[in-house]
Amino acid sequence: MSNSRGPADSHATNPQFQRAAFLTAASDLVRTPADSGWEVAFAGRSNAGKSSALNAICHQRGLARTSKTPGRTQQLIFFQLDEERRLVDLPGYGFAKVSLSIKRQWQMLMERYLERRTSLKGLVVVMDIRHPLTEIDQQMIAWGIAAALPLLLLLTKADKLKRGAVDRSLQSVRKAMAAGASTSIEVQPFSAVTRLGLKDTQSQLSAWLDLP
Ligand code: GDP
Repeated sequence: MSNSRGPADSHATNPQFQRAAFLTAASDLVRTPADSGWEVAFAGRSNAGKSSALNAICHQRGLARTSKTPGRTQQLIFFQLDEERRLVDLPGYGFAKVSLSIKRQWQMLMERYLERRTSLKGLVVVMDIRHPLTEIDQQMIAWGIAAALPLLLLLTKADKLKRGAVDRSLQSVRKAMAAGASTSIEVQPFSAVTRLGLKDTQSQLSAWLDLP
């Protein structure tokens, strides 16, 4: 059989990610789907590239757009891969303009979700490779560690930097994370544009989700 596929198709992918479909949105833990099976959550500052990463991982253009509709910004968005496996788009953070009470509400929701969700098997923290580990990213990482969750730090928009700068950012984040973390922390350069790191990211998610 001839193989005349373009470069985008040269990245083998687990077809289960392509099956991802919107399941539900929840503004509090009571409204989340049944806490069974396997779940992986995606966190990140607004504009870090979280939706683009989710769409790239699932090979769907508009999947994570739902999270941007007005009123949904403070919700957890659940995407289903199958009956037992979900990806969760956590509300974007880093909002300079929102009130203190909304920030507190967000903090409480995140902390509780990360700590109590039994089906949650891993946390992906999406950060712009040009300015990773902001204070609020570190807060999110600390909650993940406190909840004994394995972490994947996705350094996205890597296409915006030259190779040397990508490596420097990667090393500095690895170094910052090396001290004293009690859970597994992987750091992965990523680009939704060039698909750099896509396969490795999918492999990590497949392992967490116990995908065949
Ligand atoms: P979110 O708010 O974290 O969901 O961020 P989005 O995924 O909406 O991305 C924010 C902006 O960054 C958009 O203009 C995207 O097109 C852009 N963006 C996201 N990922 C990448 C990437 O890997 N490379 C480049 N060059 N731009 C990206």
